[in-house]
Amino acid sequence: MSSAVATEIKTIDNFIQGQYKAPKKGEYFEDIDPATGKAIAKVANGGAEDIDEAAAAAKLAFEQGPWPRMSMQERCAILRKVGDLILKNLETLAIAETVDTGKPISESREGDIPRSAQNFHFFSDYAQALNDDSYSVNANERHLAIREPLGVAGLITPWNLPLYLATWKIAPCLAMGNSCILKPAEWTPHTANLLGALMQEAGVPEGVFNVVNGFGAKSAGEALTTHPDVRCISFTGETSTGRAIMGAAASTLKKLSFELGGKGANIIFEDADLQEAIPTAIRAAYRNQGEICLAGSRLFVQESIYNKVRDELLERVKQIRVGNPLDEKTQMGAIISKEQLQKVQSYIEIGKNDGKLLFGGERLTTLGEGNYLSPALISEIDNKSRVCQEEIFGPVLPLIPFKAEEELVEMVNSTPYGLSCSVWTNDANRQHRVSRDIKSGIVWINCWFARDLRTPFGGQKSSGVGREGGRWALEFFSEMKTICFRYKSGQ
Ligand code: NDP
Repeated sequence: MSSAVATEIKTIDNFIQGQYKAPKKGEYFEDIDPATGKAIAKVANGGAEDIDEAAAAAKLAFEQGPWPRMSMQERCAILRKVGDLILKNLETLAIAETVDTGKPISESREGDIPRSAQNFHFFSDYAQALNDDSYSVNANERHLAIREPLGVAGLITPWNLPLYLATWKIAPCLAMGNSCILKPAEWTPHTANLLGALMQEAGVPEGVFNVVNGFGAKSAGEALTTHPDVRCISFTGETSTGRAIMGAAASTLKKLSFELGGKGANIIFEDADLQEAIPTAIRAAYRNQGEICLAGSRLFVQESIYNKVRDELLERVKQIRVGNPLDEKTQMGAIISKEQLQKVQSYIEIGKNDGKLLFGGERLTTLGEGNYLSPALISEIDNKSRVCQEEIFGPVLPLIPFKAEEELVEMVNSTPYGLSCSVWTNDANRQHRVSRDIKSGIVWINCWFARDLRTPFGGQKSSGVGREGGRWALEFFSEMKTICFRYKSGQ
């Protein structure tokens, strides 16, 4: 795969049974480069008939193919090779991801793509450490609890971290011996498409990994969630989509894992190390154009240091370099789509009414036709404002003052979300109390975005159902069987 291949791709087809295939109805839609507004590819508009074909291929691979019958060691050696191939093709994949999403190339090169390889490397090692349980009932009776793959898995992913989030699901799913169908987000199909060829090169058997492109509701996505041969759905996306999928999956009673929206709080107490807290607050709010579920998208600052923190943040926000995503120096690229840009701008208008726009929020037309927006910083805003309560998924940071810990915890917990939260304080007792009282899947103390892949990942409240990561992912993509042995007693 040469780096030229990624930029030359003009047609993105489905990947079924080890082959790139045109959608059965022959329909395509345009994929737009967020940085230029121009079409960069035509993408297969897959539908129920393509999901049927992919499900048949995946079922055949599971029921008759070698994949679930291989030893864990053999399977994981192939998956490790997928990780190696991702690294070997890092530049191609990084360019494809950046052109597709509008994210800075440095993010793709140093973040998304190496982390995608790591997903395969990690799960190929970790799955081999999984063991079955044996219970000795008495001298002649033993019960085994063994783990089996589910069969065909449906994986549905969003547009913000396309390859990273897809591989986060694919690696544990395949390690456990399942086959799968991936439905990538309609706006970002490129790297999933390239992954098909890498899977084949690594030796993943035909039909084990399939990709059906297309739209979500009333199309490929929905067909996947209702297909009788699909045993589980691992979904990352908006909370409202999670609700729709849960309803759609009910009739075929699928196992579900949902990683949903967030409204991460970043909290700076007066005793915090501001040298660390302030630059991290900037990264947490604006990295990847703020299009990260774990973003610190509302900043609570203790009243006594509020003015100081606000002024320093303002200086730093002004320095953020917005520009061409392919430029190595760019820190913030283009917003994914015109629709998302409008959504973000509508929240900035609300922010202007409910608080004070200190900086940014402007469409940067000097950069061309792309969806460029300057990072927005809003102060003097109440936590009840929609800007502080709803997920914007863009470069907008409201600053909210607080007096005391009790009031703070109540404010942080007031949104329906509970995905992530950062707490900056050097008081160990406060670290304990706040991390205990905040309803959140992950709490970072004096850091942000840190996570060992062995730990569980997921959200509380409306931010998710279930956990992925580490053994939780392997457990999701498998099910238990108990086998009870009774031996003849005698000699
Ligand atoms: P969406 O929920 O809009 O879409 C996610 C995926 O679901 C897409 O592939 C989409 O297809 C598909 N889809 C949409 N409707 C249906 C349906 N009815 N049935 C089946 N599939 C469907 O999310 P976004 O792509 O807009 O991603 C942003 C969201 O993802 C944010 O809320 C963010 O917080 C969340 N997210 C959560 C993470 C976490 O770990 N908790 C991590 C990253 C993002 P299509 O593209 O065609 O619409």
